[in-house]
Amino acid sequence: MNSFLSELLENNIIICPDCRSDRMRLADTQISCRECGHQWPVRNDVPDFFNQYHDTTGIHRVDPTHPDHGSEEDRELIDIIMRALALDHTDHYEAVKDIVSRARTWSCHDQALSAEINHLKDRFAPAAHTVPQHPDIPATANSAPSIELVRHYFPEKAVAGGRIRGNIRVKNTGVSTWSSRTSVPLYLSMFWTDHDQTRIDLKADLVFLPVDIVPGRSISIPMHTPVPLKNGTYRVHACLLLRGESTGVVSQCGFKIKVVSPPSTVKEKFLSFFIRPSTPSVCPIFKAAIPDYGQDHAAGLGIFTSQLKKLDRRFTHVLEVGSGTHPQTAWLPQCKVVALDISSPMLELGSLFFAQQSIPLKPAFMCADAFYPPFKEESFDAIAMFSALPGWPPKIPQSWPLENPPSIKSR
Ligand SMILES: [Zn+2]
Repeated sequence: MNSFLSELLENNIIICPDCRSDRMRLADTQISCRECGHQWPVRNDVPDFFNQYHDTTGIHRVDPTHPDHGSEEDRELIDIIMRALALDHTDHYEAVKDIVSRARTWSCHDQALSAEINHLKDRFAPAAHTVPQHPDIPATANSAPSIELVRHYFPEKAVAGGRIRGNIRVKNTGVSTWSSRTSVPLYLSMFWTDHDQTRIDLKADLVFLPVDIVPGRSISIPMHTPVPLKNGTYRVHACLLLRGESTGVVSQCGFKIKVVSPPSTVKEKFLSFFIRPSTPSVCPIFKAAIPDYGQDHAAGLGIFTSQLKKLDRRFTHVLEVGSGTHPQTAWLPQCKVVALDISSPMLELGSLFFAQQSIPLKPAFMCADAFYPPFKEESFDAIAMFSALPGWPPKIPQSWPLENPPSIKSR
């Protein structure tokens, strides 16, 4: 058992997601609540406090005689994962085979969460293939797309000729999935119209969709747009563009932005500060291609570690939400990390990987719904997230106890 996980259990930091009791007991392959009796499995050293899956194949997955077990596609993916994580074949092949099989066949009540659990192939295979194959994309993807602008976080004013950025939330109101992973990718973009509803000719950015968006689902995405050169009141629209086509599908109505002259006096320069977008300059911007996660994460880690120094602790307790296989905070010195994710298969691979690394403080991998973190309040010093929001469910679960939401405060 991971030593930090044992420490958290011994100190009654881990609590029952159902009854919130801290009377949790670890047995060999499960953790149980001594208060309400609920039990959660522990697989490859990863407790699963979510554990709400059904098997989409209807086949008992550990039946080795069934033809579905160990398909050609699975074998290829197992090899890719073993190589990527430098896992020893003799020691780990069966474990990885079981993880891959579960990742493919498991599903849960929420489509967005199921996608996170199923998409093991996307996480590992694209790096190994020059031309990624995505058999999971529906054949109808990107046909007759339709978009609705749900809300935006752009400033009300912008300086003529400048650039502004902000988040927009858009909804797929069509009948087909949006995907940027197809051979003719669908991109998100923005454009401006003036008071005559004439389109302004600006070189707009094309933004890659970080995940496929099924009909009915919304996503929040950071956007970046040049501002027209002339003062006036404009509307800014979200649109979808298929590569190679100059026209695209446009949201029904945009939002209003007033474009003003660049400041000339000291006072105006001072005031202009307040009409800049409040988004910090380190906000990751998705470019027309797949974003460079390496650079983005390095910048994020830099900010995070500078904040940790201020805490001045001997050991910092860090919760990394949406960590997947490789928590970014795992290599920070003097940090005890819980790597939380909704995908048990991703975490189990991380657990196998870190088990063979010679670092003193190995991250504790834990599967749970981040909306219901199974921890006592004030039990972490810091919480980190890296590129996790695009995989977030479209809305907060209805059962969220609004009057008394589960929360985690700095200890
Ligand atoms: Zn309980």
